[in-house]
Amino acid sequence: MIVKLKHENPEVRDHLASLGAEVRRLDFPFGVFLAALGEAPPLKEIQAMAGVEWAKASGAKPLLAARASAPQGSQVTLGNAVVGGVALALMGGPCSVEDRDQIVGTARFIAAYGATGLRGGAYKPRTSPYAFQGLGQAGVELLREAGDASGLPVITEIMDPADVEAMLPFVDCFQIGARNMSSAPLLRAVGRAGRPVLLKRGPASTLEEFVLAAEYILLEGNANVILCERGIRTFETATRNTLDLNAIPVLKAMTHLPVIVDPSHGTGRRDAVLPMARAAVAAGADGIIVEVHPDPSKALSDGPQSLHFAEFRRLAEELGPVALAVGRRLDLPATHPASGVPYIRRAVGWGSAL
Ligand code: PEP
Ligand code: MN
Repeated sequence: MIVKLKHENPEVRDHLASLGAEVRRLDFPFGVFLAALGEAPPLKEIQAMAGVEWAKASGAKPLLAARASAPQGSQVTLGNAVVGGVALALMGGPCSVEDRDQIVGTARFIAAYGATGLRGGAYKPRTSPYAFQGLGQAGVELLREAGDASGLPVITEIMDPADVEAMLPFVDCFQIGARNMSSAPLLRAVGRAGRPVLLKRGPASTLEEFVLAAEYILLEGNANVILCERGIRTFETATRNTLDLNAIPVLKAMTHLPVIVDPSHGTGRRDAVLPMARAAVAAGADGIIVEVHPDPSKALSDGPQSLHFAEFRRLAEELGPVALAVGRRLDLPATHPASGVPYIRRAVGWGSAL
């Protein structure tokens, strides 16, 4: 059972515990909840207690992550950005951290052109065990260096709950990759770590399964979850995945969590990334995450879908007008990073236009 409290009443918790349930108190910015696990206390009795806003039986549906728990929507703070606010988040970086120059160079470039977060894989969930598996902890530490050099918060994938402790000092946001979306031990571990989590949709997962995976993280007391649509598997072979933009409005109805879109994995092809990023913003995404590499032809993973620097810059420039058209905003630096000359504001889209 999940209980949303209207005001403090210690008797609610005591009563739930006396009925044999394991009770957890969850303090979220959008409310205080009690989760009673294990037993099914009589709903009507709890609903009638002082201090209870509502009580719902935990069946198979998400409750903490459900839109009804925070009808106004929830937000996740990541570095200087608030994901789920009016301004869009723009995260970029290579598929894999490869070496210092690659990750620091990419971080500096994208930060100068409007990125709000730096991504880079160190533990890579490659489809083939013979493919490059990532630099591991050394990659996590290089990513941190690049984050510090550019002022960007860093996002990296975790594959094993046992890595939380070693990664925690270096990471601003844990990514759970598509292949691990429904790994309960991993979801619980990042939930307990308390850091923001970027949860990617499994390529064969329904939206309800996706939100239920997020529910695991919330149930550990961590509501800083960003959902990421990254494409699902369909019969189509011209693209690596089929980017399911239906997911944006439908997830927004199902859950209060911010929703971002990854058009790099969603399409697998560089030429489709910018158009699908524009489409995602138009459909109401709270942000975009893309792969960027200094020389995609030499990338150790996902080169064909990685943007060149100039393409990232174009993406940042072109998303602004789309954002404004749907009541959002993409903040770009006020001046050109190389020359220090103020950007010429186009009709819409440059700088803080709202
Ligand atoms: C990635 O972000 O590089 C990645 C492996 O993504 P996904 O889990 O969505 O395939
Ligand atoms: Mn990748």
